[in-house]
Amino acid sequence: MDVKDKVVFITGGASGIGKASGLKLGKNDAKVALCDIDKKNGKEAEKEFLEQGIEAEFFHCDVTNEKSVKNAVDQVVNKWGKIDVAFLNAGIEGPNNKITDIDYSDWKKTFEINVNGVFLCAKNILKIMEKQGKGNIIITSSNLGMSALPNKAAYCSTKGALIMLGKSIAVDYKNEDIRANIICPGPVKTPLVTSRWEEIEDPKKRAEVKEAILNIPQLMEVKEVVNTVHFLASDASQAYNGETFVIDKGAQAELVE
Ligand code: NAD
Repeated sequence: MDVKDKVVFITGGASGIGKASGLKLGKNDAKVALCDIDKKNGKEAEKEFLEQGIEAEFFHCDVTNEKSVKNAVDQVVNKWGKIDVAFLNAGIEGPNNKITDIDYSDWKKTFEINVNGVFLCAKNILKIMEKQGKGNIIITSSNLGMSALPNKAAYCSTKGALIMLGKSIAVDYKNEDIRANIICPGPVKTPLVTSRWEEIEDPKKRAEVKEAILNIPQLMEVKEVVNTVHFLASDASQAYNGETFVIDKGAQAELVE
């Protein structure tokens, strides 16, 4: 799965799935643009990548702000001359409440980052890919974009929207050498999930929630997700366009009655 010299623009690159995918691609000689709103973790990730001999740089990017997105895209193109792969992956979990208890501001913030952020990045990067006559977009949805869990209406709705955004890009560009695919991971041990217990103040409750999460049978390590990203970023996946790749050890396949 050759990604040598491909320039990969990764949002959410400072942590979790984005950072681990960057490492995997970088170790396979891709050039990695780590784009994230988190400067501290982003700069640390950049240092870690450089120490491992990976050609990488952190670019500050707030995916909800078009100026910031455009600036990051321009900086990456100025540095490396192109963007071969965009891994549009930044996201938040949003509120964990029943619909009637969700603050509208929390609902909007979840859409702003998870959906509008991917739209803004795709819009600005597709302009570059159109000029190149070539490009590859990978979007991070979730298995919760296909099946719902209780109290996760905001997150599930954003992730469902991303599947259709990915398919829409695939259809809009079907006659050009630009493709888009969507990954739908199940639960992965990243800060997005571990914060569910780390942020609980009561030690007893914190220990209970931690144990419950760590006992989810399909809980994955990031290394179990990055192989799919590597495949999709490479030309080995050339025939795939508008596809959803569920990576969840069968969780989404099971109907619980
Ligand atoms: P994470 O919290 O480790 O990483 C998310 C990154 O997104 C962080 O570095 C954060 O700073 C960044 N980010 C947040 N808001 C941003 C903004 N406005 N602009 C730019 N960057 C921003 O979480 P993760 O688990 O690696 O999540 C990555 C993606 O995977 C998310 O879209 C998430 O919904 C999705 N996902 C995660 C899981 C899971 O269980 N961890 C499962 C399915 C899908």
